[in-house]
Amino acid sequence: MKRHVFSAAAVSGMLLGAAAFSAPAVAQDRFITIGTGGQTGVYYVVGQSVCRMVNRGSDEHNIRCNAPSTGGSVANVNGMKSGELDMGVVQSDVQYRAYHGEANFEDDGAWEGMRAVFTMHGEPLTVVARADSGIEHISDFPGHRVNIGNPGSGQRNTMNVVMDAMGWDTDVFSLASELDAAEQAAALSDNNIDAMVYVVGHPNGSIQEATTTVDARLVPVTGPEIDGLIEEFPYYTRAVIPGGMYRGNDEDVETFGVAATFVTHEDVDADIVYETVKAVFENFDRFTRLHPAFENLDEASMISEGLTAPLHEGAERYYRERGWIE
Ligand code: GLU
Repeated sequence: MKRHVFSAAAVSGMLLGAAAFSAPAVAQDRFITIGTGGQTGVYYVVGQSVCRMVNRGSDEHNIRCNAPSTGGSVANVNGMKSGELDMGVVQSDVQYRAYHGEANFEDDGAWEGMRAVFTMHGEPLTVVARADSGIEHISDFPGHRVNIGNPGSGQRNTMNVVMDAMGWDTDVFSLASELDAAEQAAALSDNNIDAMVYVVGHPNGSIQEATTTVDARLVPVTGPEIDGLIEEFPYYTRAVIPGGMYRGNDEDVETFGVAATFVTHEDVDADIVYETVKAVFENFDRFTRLHPAFENLDEASMISEGLTAPLHEGAERYYRERGWIE
């Protein structure tokens, strides 16, 4: 597959024509694009932060990194497969299903070219309901207006699994909307929906916006169906969203969750992946200060937990050099 890493020096060389022969050697710029999520989520900050670390060293390695907003995990997987994205942030459950070609990746088949880089923060499935909606638990969803997420998002993917477990299809809701992550808080406060669903690290701008612009509560996602999912799938774990993070939500809320993971394609140049992980881990304190959801990250868990696909050889080379793996 043709990757879109291209060389600006080659282009200017062509423009200069014969003159380029006598010019001193110019280091070639290499560009990488990281897929993130909505701008009020945490993936966007992950991508921006990784790029910030990478771009600090551009003078030495000539890699220039950008991290645009995308539809989320599934859009990132598809973007990496098509070669539009070089790397992306992907929920650990989506990583597993895409790698093995399961559930809604069944038609596409297993994506064996996926490579793991590292794991980031935890992401609880977070349900926020308007206080006047009568929703106090996820089991109250039927009959209500629920934003189940845009099709490229991780929350939509996880909601499909939850809906199957609960025996629901979209007809059980009075409205099943598919708004993007960045649009749902406004829809909640404008009373266009009763509840929003977001698989996301905390604290984040979207839930902050939802809970400050309207009286809204985080509701539990528990019960026998959820217990069944945690038992059946290795990538689901119990999770608690701590009380006191958001206005009007002082109590801990029980739910389940996944981890955000950073993945790439096997065709991405090993030196590029090597320089990317090196930039993150050599500026680790600076990196973890860029978002409160990164505060508890530690190197050992980041390179071992929540990863389904094999490590990319560029990442592996750096981890071996550090003595973190054999
Ligand atoms: N987990 C969400 C998704 O996969 C994105 C969360 C975020 O942007 O922080 O689409």
